[in-house]
Amino acid sequence: MSADGKPSREDGHLMREEFKAIRANLLKRRQAVLAKISEEPPLQGSDDITRGDSLDIASSARDREITFMLKSRDLDELRAVEDAIERIERDDYGICASCEDPIEIKRLEAIPWARFCRSCQEEMENRKAPGRLHFDVS
Ligand SMILES: [Zn+2]
Repeated sequence: MSADGKPSREDGHLMREEFKAIRANLLKRRQAVLAKISEEPPLQGSDDITRGDSLDIASSARDREITFMLKSRDLDELRAVEDAIERIERDDYGICASCEDPIEIKRLEAIPWARFCRSCQEEMENRKAPGRLHFDVS
């Protein structure tokens, strides 16, 4: 447990220079997301109900819903970030989970938690996208 800023676990483990920078970014990102999640105020405003303004109640329920949605997005991001960090440490990083080609470094720098190379990602997005409306010109 040496936290003196010295990299202590690099015993012959070849980590590409680029991945080191990406890993540092991911760690920073994880800190930021964690901070954001713990910053969210806990459920609040339940004593406002006594004021009996139905509009207020409705809008605070809505706020809570939005907070919840934001939180689950943050959690998704956190999961993706942690997953990427783990993959770097397992030496399993930067490989497309679909075609197993290396993912372009530029792409990894832009989206460090990317799991697919650009062409696989695009292919999946095309498949997911609602089919283009085809106009029958008969
Ligand atoms: Zn691929």
